[in-house]
Amino acid sequence: MKNIVVLGSTGSIGTQTLEIVRETKELNVLALAAGNNVELIERQIREFHPGKVVMWSEEAAQELKLRVADLSVEVLQGMDGLIEISTLPQAQIIVTAIVGMIGIRPTIAAIEAGKTIALANKETLVTAGHIIMPLAESKNVSILPVDSEHSAIFQSLQGNEKNRISKIWLTASGGPFRGMKKEQLTNMKPSDALKHPNWAMGKKITIDSSTLVNKGLEVMEAKWLFGTDLDRIEVLVHPQSIIHSAVEYEDGAIMAQLGMPDMKLPIQYALFYPERKPLGGKRVNFFELGRMTFEKPDTDNFPGLRLAYEAAKVGGSMPTVYNAANELAVQYFLKEQISFLEIAELIESSMQEHRVIANPNVDEILFAEAQTYEYIKSRFN
Ligand code: NDP
Repeated sequence: MKNIVVLGSTGSIGTQTLEIVRETKELNVLALAAGNNVELIERQIREFHPGKVVMWSEEAAQELKLRVADLSVEVLQGMDGLIEISTLPQAQIIVTAIVGMIGIRPTIAAIEAGKTIALANKETLVTAGHIIMPLAESKNVSILPVDSEHSAIFQSLQGNEKNRISKIWLTASGGPFRGMKKEQLTNMKPSDALKHPNWAMGKKITIDSSTLVNKGLEVMEAKWLFGTDLDRIEVLVHPQSIIHSAVEYEDGAIMAQLGMPDMKLPIQYALFYPERKPLGGKRVNFFELGRMTFEKPDTDNFPGLRLAYEAAKVGGSMPTVYNAANELAVQYFLKEQISFLEIAELIESSMQEHRVIANPNVDEILFAEAQTYEYIKSRFN
């Protein structure tokens, strides 16, 4: 039995992680954390019996305490709670499936405590990769990717660790608006953007897929995870989402991981690495599939990807600004306060406004985030 902690257990990745716990019966849930969803976490507590549970807000923690008063579970709250459960002495794997930069401090604390990280929370690496990767190396801690593309790259690296990567082919479905021009995109509503063609995911990442910002964040995530230069990471639009990404080596050989679009595979691979366990679900049928197609990403109509490369090239605090501006812009878009195209516009103007801090520490990263929020909010007052 491996002891796991799931940060963000009520979300899309979190619930699928718990399905794997249920199905494999080889994982023991030590602790769970969520934001406000007391109803679902109560059900999870009753099924998986964690010793500790964290809710982000005080109100949610109070409500949960009342709901589970008949059980021996300890209910904690806020960042202190997240750090406490990420460093539990018995914990072996911490699944970081919180959405947003809130994941930075618990991830760093978990690495310092020597825990293996199953990393879904890409915003953490995008903004603090320069802190997290060297720290993980110095502590001899593995960071196992949960993101499907990065898991595919990781799987394609197995047995080739000593060979140099000549190129990473990061595949993208192109999202629900693939092929559209700005004139059409300007009218797209949250309900349109939330209809992803291939993947069922949380709201924020689904919007990010429609703007190609998700792919931009993934480029930065790949740069940190695999220590690859940006000019060796190429985004390849592959609408069928069967090839989940590939690695090209110096002799021209390309190793890829293929499969149906199902997040359970990369989650399970991270949880049991290096072992592969049985997993149900549909299989790729090449005869039915018939063909796979490929396109260049359209960075004129979807500037979110171009801006990500620019932010990554500048480095320092700029990826934080890219990410923070996007987080707030997506919230505004979901509330229909801004249009679809304004998401990328807000990212670009926030980046132009920012004075870069080279090699920022965590406080400086969070300061850059706060500054970006302030700048965007000031534009709407
Ligand atoms: P969801 O929005 O579905 O879930 C987010 C989870 O984080 C929820 O459990 C939420 O709790 C919790 N949460 C939010 N804020 C806090 C907080 N302050 N403290 C504690 N918990 C919090 O997101 P996803 O599962 O889609 O994504 C999670 C991460 O994984 C993201 O970084 C995303 O980019 C990445 N990822 C997701 C993929 C997917 O298929 N969904 C694929 C690859 C990467 P509550 O429910 O109470 O709000």
